[in-house]
Amino acid sequence: MRSFEATKQYFQRAADELELAESLRTYLMMPRRELQVQIPVEMDNGELRSLVGYRVQHNRARGPMKGGLRFHPEVDLDEVRSLASLMTWKTAVVNIPYGGAKGGIAIDVSKLSARELERITRKFIDEIHEMIGPDSDIPAPDMGTDHRVMAWIMDQYNKYHGFNPGVVTGKPVEFYGIPGREEATGRGVGLLTIKLLGRLGRKAVGTRVAIQGFGNVGSHTAKFLAEAECKVVAISDSTGAYYRADGIDVPKALRHAIEHERLLRGFADAEHISNEQLLELDVDILIPAAVGGVVTAANAGRVKAPVVIEAANSPVDAEADAILDANGKIVLPDVLANAGGVTVSYFEWVQNRQYYQWSLDRVRQELDKTLTNAFEHTWTMARERKVSLRTAAFMLGIDRVARAATLGGIS
Ligand code: NAD
Repeated sequence: MRSFEATKQYFQRAADELELAESLRTYLMMPRRELQVQIPVEMDNGELRSLVGYRVQHNRARGPMKGGLRFHPEVDLDEVRSLASLMTWKTAVVNIPYGGAKGGIAIDVSKLSARELERITRKFIDEIHEMIGPDSDIPAPDMGTDHRVMAWIMDQYNKYHGFNPGVVTGKPVEFYGIPGREEATGRGVGLLTIKLLGRLGRKAVGTRVAIQGFGNVGSHTAKFLAEAECKVVAISDSTGAYYRADGIDVPKALRHAIEHERLLRGFADAEHISNEQLLELDVDILIPAAVGGVVTAANAGRVKAPVVIEAANSPVDAEADAILDANGKIVLPDVLANAGGVTVSYFEWVQNRQYYQWSLDRVRQELDKTLTNAFEHTWTMARERKVSLRTAAFMLGIDRVARAATLGGIS
């Protein structure tokens, strides 16, 4: 199933519960603006390549549109559109004053030199700089992009529009970034996992966890949960999965990844299994934190973990979601589970506008407060309306956006 179709299904289910008028549904689902651009770029070997880049602005009823930039070979308009709409609901679920957007380029960053990556990023900004801005649309990191890419974006945008650090978030701390942004999404996933365990009457200590993906989100999630004394029994990345029944030594895995171009290849302290096997391990919590669409109708029936935390965006497709639900699994949805990143991005943007920087402790405290509020609202909504956590989170988000749109006047 195409990813935007899946997002629409989740939207419709929540809209049914909210008894939302058809006209409002159409308005809320339709993206506001979509841009597709050609990015001609000269590679280090002199070859000319024409890449395709996208920026989709979904909705701005609650504020400037916010969403990451993904550099990955599978990026296409449908995926970016789906991710942009998820950002609208996500920023509303955690109640920060933003709308939703997303962008990306179909490119494999592992095959690029740093100079090529920089040229591509700057050329992309040349094409979209009129569409983004600190009061209109603010990009951030996602798969394949990091703080270096964000610094280039700020620099390139500033060449056209003057000094504007708030045009992009996820920048290096020493270049208008904020302490705690890099860890924020994984930390948020960890915090919310512990909150959910608490609500289910379980303790973190000894809880067996499998995490797919060991990039920004997966590695920080693993670190947080290991420090909370969960037993992280499996981790993985694009080179495969690594399993150890008595618990992976997470600090050792983190060191290995740092020393091996951020990859786990050759991590000898665990049994090498496949990414497919990881998803079906007999664990207490499964955390897909890599790419979308990894739990589908084909394998959902074999997921043994009673709890699935969507650290990645859309890792469980709509058919799989129905199967997991029917099998009594609890799914903490992406629009809540991975909202820590955009929350700390919001803190960064606020501080860029004030030329002031919070301490790491303050960032962590505010993140905890924002995510706890969102979690408790979602949990209560799910209990009261007897719906899944996903439907409850979408209901919260959609209701807030619909109210803002109606109050502001739509047409
Ligand atoms: P990243 O590029 O830092 O890391 C991605 C990881 O996934 C890497 O370890 C990579 O090797 C691995 N991977 C890639 N393909 C894989 C596959 N087929 N099977 C298993 N592993 C695979 O990206 P990230 O920033 O950690 O993002 C991961 C997910 O989290 C994405 O879905 C992204 O949209 C979502 N997300 C990220 C943020 C953020 O702040 N970075 C915020 C919200 C959501």
